[in-house]
Amino acid sequence: MADVVIIGAGPAGIFSAMELTRRCPELDIVMIEQGKDIHERSRTGREMLVGWGGAGAYSDGKLTISTDVGGQLASLLPEEDLLNLLNHVDALYSLPTASGDVFSVDSDDAEAISARARLAGLVYIPTKVHHIGTDNLSVVLKKFRTDLEGNIRFLFNTRAERIITSQGRVVGVKTDSGQTIEASFVVAAPGRVGSSWMSGQARDLGLETHPNPVDVGVRVELPAVIMEDLTSKAYETKFIYFSKTFDDRVRTFCMNPYGEVVLETVGDIITVNGHSWAHKRTENTNFALLVSADFTEPFDDPIGYGEYVATLANMIGKGVIVQRLGDLLGGRRTTPERLQKCSTRPTLEQATPGDLSYCLPYRILTNIIEMLSCLDRIAPGVNSYHTLLYGIEVKFFSNRIKLTRDLSSQIDGLYVVGDGAGITRGLIQASASGIIAARSILARHLTTGETA
Ligand SMILES: Cc1cc2nc3c(=O)[nH]c(=O)nc-3n(C[C@H](O)[C@H](O)[C@H](O)COP(=O)(O)OP(=O)(O)OC[C@H]3O[C@@H](n4cnc5c(N)ncnc54)[C@H](O)[C@@H]3O)c2cc1C
Repeated sequence: MADVVIIGAGPAGIFSAMELTRRCPELDIVMIEQGKDIHERSRTGREMLVGWGGAGAYSDGKLTISTDVGGQLASLLPEEDLLNLLNHVDALYSLPTASGDVFSVDSDDAEAISARARLAGLVYIPTKVHHIGTDNLSVVLKKFRTDLEGNIRFLFNTRAERIITSQGRVVGVKTDSGQTIEASFVVAAPGRVGSSWMSGQARDLGLETHPNPVDVGVRVELPAVIMEDLTSKAYETKFIYFSKTFDDRVRTFCMNPYGEVVLETVGDIITVNGHSWAHKRTENTNFALLVSADFTEPFDDPIGYGEYVATLANMIGKGVIVQRLGDLLGGRRTTPERLQKCSTRPTLEQATPGDLSYCLPYRILTNIIEMLSCLDRIAPGVNSYHTLLYGIEVKFFSNRIKLTRDLSSQIDGLYVVGDGAGITRGLIQASASGIIAARSILARHLTTGETA
């Protein structure tokens, strides 16, 4: 028996737990996490995404304090309330020992970058970014773990198998060890890694869902000096481009000044990502260029489409492919010998020199090539022969579950939060969503005394 069961110990689940215990320490809370505790985790394979801290544990720790970026909570909450909540979350991440750097573009710089962007055919979205760094983030997550010790019952290496309901109300969770934990409230926070499990639960429970688009593209790596003028002012510069050929929306994503390109394992698929450290630097900057692929009837499986494209790259490259932009535009493969001659040194050694045009659909490739040429006008050197492109980068977004503004589902007492609900896409909004659900549970518990 418990008052609240939380499924998933990623940022959404952790912030739910912290809010519940802070405001109501007597609540009996059980947290179920399929991965390991923070001290036992490693950043290899699937473990990179599961365990205490979830996908956030080895993320870049970039907190983007913006209502427009990192999720769709703005569609549920008034903008001012949401911004206050995001600032509150940011303050909780900001330990004095691991505070990182805050990059807030001043209005003159923002106006200047906007003007340059417009001339280049791009739209600039100014954002305030608090960069904690992968190394500092681990310190913060360990602190959260220690703070919750003694207040919560943790079940690590345990998978929630089924959410149990009775007469339209949640009554508990069954685990893969056959244990049933009865509870008055369940907060499901399974992240992207648990999105297919969540979709299955939604189907079984009759919850309404809508597919989110999938974002497919490449990770761009170039000498940091090329982007220095922008990244020194804004750290992460977010640009949007509407392509001439297809009128598609293409965007920069997850910019890592002086960072490194890394592999990401999603199920059986190997994709690419990037991060940067607070205390060490490479000579390169990397960022993703992503194209949103949204489909209409009869196709309704954007996740399957993204997986298919990434699988093709894995098939041809036995993993991730890297190609010089000059080779891509010249219609030839990058070979190990050609890569040797490249003046941009790749930070990811496990990528196979190859040919991305064999696996990226024409539409996506054309959009990316167009945007690189526009970015070159704002940061000369982006469209260089020696720019490296790694593929495939895919951002799978879970199906969006129909939720109320307090993130409660159509099942009474069942809340679905974070990336697994298809409502967030980043650390700060995922964390905020956990708090929103916790506050709703607290309001119900404190006014009606609903407990186990
Ligand atoms: C390499 C990388 C870099 C990133 N960098 C950034 C960044 O700089 N800034 C940013 O804002 N975002 C970044 N992100 C995204 C960010 O990490 C996620 O948006 C965030 O972690 C989502 O939080 P969440 O709690 O919803 O899900 P997750 O962090 O995915 O956590 C979900 C947890 O639930 C567990 N789980 C799932 N299903 C079950 C089940 N059935 N039973 C038990 N446990 C279950 C999983 O094991 C996991 O630990 C990055 C992501 C990656 C992969």
